[in-house]
Amino acid sequence: MKCVYVCGYGRSGSTLAGRMLSAQSGHVAVGEATHVGSDSFLATAHCACGRKYPTCGYWAAVDRCLTAAAGPTALSRRARIFLEGLPGLIVPLTLLRRLVLRISFSDRYPQNSFADGVRLLTAVSGGGFVDISKTTRSTANRPRLLAASGMNVELHLAWLPLRRVVRSRQAAAIRQGRSASRGMAVVSVVTGRMLAHVAARRCAQSLRSSLPRVDLDEFIRLAAHVSEIDEQLNHMIAGNRSRRHGIDAQGE
Ligand SMILES: [Zn+2]
Repeated sequence: MKCVYVCGYGRSGSTLAGRMLSAQSGHVAVGEATHVGSDSFLATAHCACGRKYPTCGYWAAVDRCLTAAAGPTALSRRARIFLEGLPGLIVPLTLLRRLVLRISFSDRYPQNSFADGVRLLTAVSGGGFVDISKTTRSTANRPRLLAASGMNVELHLAWLPLRRVVRSRQAAAIRQGRSASRGMAVVSVVTGRMLAHVAARRCAQSLRSSLPRVDLDEFIRLAAHVSEIDEQLNHMIAGNRSRRHGIDAQGE
């Protein structure tokens, strides 16, 4: 069971990185797998193949598998949120291995333990998947949870220079009609990005893994060739249609 995991901060090229790593590894790109099972996210989510969740062949199979599994999990939703986010980073891996059998995979599929949900997702994906959930405040410890569930986790860091991340964030804020003050954007990006990078390094250290930066510019040069061969592997789900294909290469 293999997971190619894209760490880092938002607006740093993770969507494009996920597509490229999917094409390189031959594993299905699932987008931000942390959202699989969040009803509010899935209400507006579309797969990269254009269909609404879970009507495409891939996600329909995932949904069938996850729905069919039985057996309520013992620990509350709050425990999962705690363990998947920043606080989970202090929990030893040996303890996480026991806890992934007790916390639920997600809100939509509470009958699966985290470890079972990951195993089923991997089985439907043919042995591995590319997860771009990053290492933000709410997903900082996700790579370690995946490893504790028995996955062989290969880490990569989505990385763009700070000024490009700030620019991308401001552009996104303007598109969404939110306030786009540069000062606020810089403060928020600097702190969030630093935390995301610290979390990524902590995961790499704990999993004794390397953490290569994804060279996005190199990937963009290759993108024209890759896009034709990886369509069948691209089942990224996203709430925002414009981000599905990684069109927004400056950002996520
Ligand atoms: Zn699809």
